[in-house]
Amino acid sequence: MFVGHYATCLALKTFEKRASLGVLFLAVQFVDILFFPFVLLGIERINIIENFTQSTHFELEYMPYTHSLVGSLFWAALAYAFFRWVVVKKREIALVVALAVFSHWILDLIVHTPDLPLWSDSSLKLGFGLWNNAIATYALEAALLLGAL
Ligand SMILES: [Zn+2]
Repeated sequence: MFVGHYATCLALKTFEKRASLGVLFLAVQFVDILFFPFVLLGIERINIIENFTQSTHFELEYMPYTHSLVGSLFWAALAYAFFRWVVVKKREIALVVALAVFSHWILDLIVHTPDLPLWSDSSLKLGFGLWNNAIATYALEAALLLGAL
């Protein structure tokens, strides 16, 4: 999922108007923001394979820290704690930011090939594979974003 993640920001903003849209934009992409430096540091791995799916050239080989279910819950909990006790100190805003962070995994689940581990790399990996259909992928991304707008 790419621009579709931003639909979550717009939806969450309607529930908690005090939440910064800029923060929500970063929150929904937070695990991807971590992923690419993790790849550069050799912590996680991606292979560039032309036409790996109709929508991407990415074989997401190893990403248990940023894109596992447990990892996503961890980053969401960390975001909650950071916003609850350090930044804004408002429970509702912290919860919305945490939901934004976790929403990334849910939306990625729809489009990724089965490469999203539940926890470790050897655990069950999930992904419904919508990226194998480019038209459906772009239609869903556009529908989510325009629907949220
Ligand atoms: Zn991602």
